[in-house]
Amino acid sequence: MGKYLPAHPKPLPDELLSSWLVRIAEANAVKLHTMSRMLFGFNYSPWIRDIGRHGPDIVINKISEVTGTPVSRVRETTLHGYAGWVLRHMRISGQTHWILPVKSKSADRIGYGVQYCPQCLLEDGKPYYRRAWRIAFYAFCPKHGIMLRDSCPECGAPIVFHRRDFNRDIELAREIYQCTKCEADLCDVPPEKPMIYDQRVYDLYSALLNEFHMGCRKKFNLSYFEVLHQLCKIIVSTSNKNQLHEHLCSKIGIVPKEFELSKGGSIEELRIDLRYYIVSLGLWLLVFPKRRLKSSWKAKAVRYNLFLKDFRHSPKWFADMVWEFNRLNTCRKL
Ligand SMILES: [Zn+2]
Ligand SMILES: [Zn+2]
Repeated sequence: MGKYLPAHPKPLPDELLSSWLVRIAEANAVKLHTMSRMLFGFNYSPWIRDIGRHGPDIVINKISEVTGTPVSRVRETTLHGYAGWVLRHMRISGQTHWILPVKSKSADRIGYGVQYCPQCLLEDGKPYYRRAWRIAFYAFCPKHGIMLRDSCPECGAPIVFHRRDFNRDIELAREIYQCTKCEADLCDVPPEKPMIYDQRVYDLYSALLNEFHMGCRKKFNLSYFEVLHQLCKIIVSTSNKNQLHEHLCSKIGIVPKEFELSKGGSIEELRIDLRYYIVSLGLWLLVFPKRRLKSSWKAKAVRYNLFLKDFRHSPKWFADMVWEFNRLNTCRKL
């Protein structure tokens, strides 16, 4: 084998590593497993784990070599680039803030951790999956203004596009935009507009996704995403007993949706509609953060200590505000 693969397409804008590998195999008319064995050896299968999250060196270096792509560009196709931007540290196992879990079961997936925009896929010259679609708050497409989907519209299965040629001849491989379980065209679904719970919240959510989509880190930076994550965590956590959730719904004037509270307050485990709803509630607080956080605390919808629970790097304005609640609380008791 020469240095390069006969066909070595380059990664497309914001393309996810797994999507790119699938396209490289397709361009060379080899099955994904065959290519993986050829490049990474028989003893290593990247497909039994979340390679976008792991970004293993063995894969990064080899793909760089056989496609003539700089290692730094290959690394950009993993989720590690979000560390220091939307999350502080990328963890290889366990829950990482804002990263949707795929829940590997051998080479299959049982988690709904890969989302897609039907319109983006439809308009692509070469359909491919974006890194941003693995992020929990990325629930609608800022370009098309429609909800992303996290499952097949026909059979409801998780999106597992890398299995397109598994257990079948290469001539019968599915397209990357087809469900690997039922063959449905994933783009063949009516566009769904995001529910507008509150216009200001929707405008803020759109601004956040637009800035994120463009790769800016001005207003919506690590501190912002950490505070938003903390608020979402409180809303879905058993520690708050649904009080903040109910308070926010009454303020916005909507009927609370039912969902199971979780001990760790993991928003990443929720399906897309609920995630969009919870992030919208969190953003309602951040439209006028100091005023609304204070009124939620005063209404006893949340205890002040929950704001800082397990939040090691809270920004100064947030920590100062919580200490102010603490001070007021103490004065109240005197
Ligand atoms: Zn789109
Ligand atoms: Zn299906």
